[in-house]
Amino acid sequence: MARFAEPMTRLIDELRKLPGIGTKSAQRLAFHVLRSPSEDAEKLAHAIRELKARLRLCSICNNITDVDPCTYCTSAVRDQRLVCVIEEPTNISTIEKTRSFAGVYHVLHGTLSPIGGVGPEQLRIANLMTRLPAVDEIILATSPTTEGEATARYLADEIRRAESRVKITRIATGVPAGSDIEYADEITMSRALEGRREL
Ligand SMILES: [Zn+2]
Repeated sequence: MARFAEPMTRLIDELRKLPGIGTKSAQRLAFHVLRSPSEDAEKLAHAIRELKARLRLCSICNNITDVDPCTYCTSAVRDQRLVCVIEEPTNISTIEKTRSFAGVYHVLHGTLSPIGGVGPEQLRIANLMTRLPAVDEIILATSPTTEGEATARYLADEIRRAESRVKITRIATGVPAGSDIEYADEITMSRALEGRREL
């Protein structure tokens, strides 16, 4: 790696920690910041600081929010007894775009991955279990990948054991097998939800 002045090296090192950013991209971004007006650089730094200072996870559903509980969990027009379990907060927008889901969410923040060293204790499952008495149906909307399927199976077993009354459903395979629901379009996602089957 080329040698840069210390502040430049420091920024490059920080940028390289971001997903999908290699050394080359980090250098390009750092030089872009250097050439930008001070005002723009300050706005970027401020936005990052504000994000960390103001956003947190909803204590009920683990969605990223600036109010706790989040607006979904306190909504009077949404069915609080219908919970859609998803991998990441970004999956909410994929499902919201379908306009065919009026329940609430539960964000796991990942999937089980023995190879990646992610076990149940690394996922936000505990506060899903405490929600069960107030829930009628759990839709397992993890991706139809190996990890997503394993996570859905694990959760179905755990939920059944804890609260057998709760209906457990899995989204249909309208979402192509092996793909991430993050990339599902509205129609595909809408069909996957409508065609969900009971486990
Ligand atoms: Zn919430």
